[in-house]
Amino acid sequence: MSCFDPLTFRRQFPLLQKNINENPLIYFDNGATTQKPQSVLEAYQAYYSAANANVHRASHVLSARATQAFEDAREAVKSFINAASLKEIIWTKGTTESINLIAQSWGGSQLRAGDEIVLSYSEHHANIVPWQLVAEKTGAVIKVLPLTDNGTLDENKLDEMITSRTRLVACAHISNVLGRINPLEKIIARAKAVGAVTLVDGAQAIAHVPVDVQALDCDFYVFSAHKMFGPTGVGVLYGRLALLADMPPYQGGGEMIQKVSFAGTSFNELPFKFEAGTPNIAGVVAFSEAVRFLQAQQGQGFYDYEQSLIRYMTEKLQNIPEIDFIVSGAPDIPVFSFTVKGHHNHDIATALDSRGIAVRSGHHCAMPLMEYLKLSGCLRLSLAPYNTFAEIDTVIGVLTAIIHGEE
Ligand code: PLP
Repeated sequence: MSCFDPLTFRRQFPLLQKNINENPLIYFDNGATTQKPQSVLEAYQAYYSAANANVHRASHVLSARATQAFEDAREAVKSFINAASLKEIIWTKGTTESINLIAQSWGGSQLRAGDEIVLSYSEHHANIVPWQLVAEKTGAVIKVLPLTDNGTLDENKLDEMITSRTRLVACAHISNVLGRINPLEKIIARAKAVGAVTLVDGAQAIAHVPVDVQALDCDFYVFSAHKMFGPTGVGVLYGRLALLADMPPYQGGGEMIQKVSFAGTSFNELPFKFEAGTPNIAGVVAFSEAVRFLQAQQGQGFYDYEQSLIRYMTEKLQNIPEIDFIVSGAPDIPVFSFTVKGHHNHDIATALDSRGIAVRSGHHCAMPLMEYLKLSGCLRLSLAPYNTFAEIDTVIGVLTAIIHGEE
């Protein structure tokens, strides 16, 4: 038996103890960003109170402390995702910057006219637009994998879509709207069979499923700290060493160089070659506490509890006849997207907010998915393991009342 206790877990998040619009906050917008536990807030404060200095620069005590904490965080992330080397962990601002870095550096230097980039209809804009920008510059062509009725990438189309012309396959581990785990093993195997590079957008997966980049055998895996109880403004780019070594720098400036001269500049070794300028040191240090915090929870009980939330919420929503799920079946992570017959998504979200219930409505940065599903938008309720069955009951009660015009 595992010892995950959702209420003890929940108590560690100060904002979850607050009222919003005179009601206890019910935070069901975790797909957008998670709340932060006390230990992460304290790590942030402790860094600025006891270790603040720039990293990798000066030879004084504070700089040594800051550098140590910053590099310890890299070690924590390396072991969290089982990367083979510290040189494969690059700090960025978030998933979006990680993908832009890969698109501009790898894509900009490797793609030629006619090369194909394979994406899917369920990608977040962050895994579409950077590729459109690089395709425009290089003449590469974007192809789009279709989805099955339950919202995963269609495995049956892999052989047709991923061919000898494909140079890159980039897809989400889990879509931020559909909440289904994509068949990565098959996608990556097919990409490798044709010699294509693979990028996995792990923004939604990282807080919900264990990630082992060596077992996945992907070339790039990217995610954001703020979606796994860490601070905003910190992200990770994992890249296979051999690929990173061949990629040109993304941005120029301090830290990423070995020697600068007007006769020619040489670049720093990995991972610093991709970390120009002063990084978000406090954020990275606080993030390492979030990694420790999440790792300490991630036993069987944590996953079982999340699965029980999914089952309970799915059943409750299925009992409301006015709700139309945007794809069939239950999700793999607690992300529920639907529309409500006879009601505008925004009206429902606003009515829920007036009762202290935070959800999201709109296109969820996935306009091509909305177009594919012929929707103008939808509601999304996304839960985390600090949410409770009692909160689900409250939300379902309020939602039902709104639908029946009683709120
Ligand atoms: N990819 C997916 C699947 C996401 O859900 C998100 C954020 O919602 C992103 C990329 C972008 O992440 P960020 O805004 O942290 O860069």
